[in-house]
Amino acid sequence: MKVYPITPRGYCKGVVHAIELAKRCAHDYPDTPIHILGMIVHNQYIVDALAQMGIHTVDQPGLSRLELLDQIDEGIVLITAHGAGQDVFDKAQAKGLTIIDATCTDVIKTHTLIKTALDAQQEILYIGKKGHPEAEGTIAIDPEHIHLITSKQDIDAIQNHDQAYLITNQTTMSLWDVYDLCEYAQKKLPNIQIAKETCQATRIRQEAIAKVPEEVELVIIVGDPHSNNTAKLAAIASQKAHKEVIQIESVQDLSLDVLKGKSCVAISSGASTPTYLTNQIIAYLQTLEAPVQSLPPFPSIDKKHILD
Ligand code: SF4
Repeated sequence: MKVYPITPRGYCKGVVHAIELAKRCAHDYPDTPIHILGMIVHNQYIVDALAQMGIHTVDQPGLSRLELLDQIDEGIVLITAHGAGQDVFDKAQAKGLTIIDATCTDVIKTHTLIKTALDAQQEILYIGKKGHPEAEGTIAIDPEHIHLITSKQDIDAIQNHDQAYLITNQTTMSLWDVYDLCEYAQKKLPNIQIAKETCQATRIRQEAIAKVPEEVELVIIVGDPHSNNTAKLAAIASQKAHKEVIQIESVQDLSLDVLKGKSCVAISSGASTPTYLTNQIIAYLQTLEAPVQSLPPFPSIDKKHILD
């Protein structure tokens, strides 16, 4: 069958950097307990592969990074590419932990922008996902003056229209959602500055998926169901490219139900998806006769390649 691997796709620079830092810690400090505060990326395969190297992920749904720190008493704590609030850094330091900071430079850039706006007495409208670690770390800069925006209703709820505002966003949000919310806010609030902060890696992946070729009958997005940027890619393929979309984690999630009769598919993956898993799906699809009538056995997943 015809397979379009969408370019660019997969790991972004922030994820590559965080994984490299974690591996380097394991290599340089073999006798020191190493913890990652929350999932390094939203991908269970990567979390499991790091665990194999003795790197322990401390994560529990519903608990903030600050609360998760209560579960770490010694050794190294790695702050993920999503970043964290100053309160997290202070608490880790007070506990005597060695902090390795893998906060992505693009997240730091947004933090700097927000701090500058706060210094200028602007209130911050932050478009993000409730409970997401990046949103949590950013709002922790100043919870009183940074307001999470998840919908137009949140903008409607703003009472003080005389105040100066800056509207900005989590780096992994959809370009189109951010555009819509910024436009809406601009109509409602006369004194507002707009700073769209969807990062370059997210932006070029989203733009590429919105332009899949006409002949594509199905878009396959590879990634963990908890990954925000992966979910956004799937939503864009559906809403902007108007394609049938499936989101899967590995080759073993493919099914004859969705592939039957198909002759042309496109494939992309989230910024947190192991390259090995995506390449395995591409290679498998390329072996299929078009139109697909049956599926040969799936290859096994060799976990030692997950961090390649
Ligand atoms: S998605 Fe963007 S901001 Fe987030 S880690 Fe990757 S490059 Fe950095």
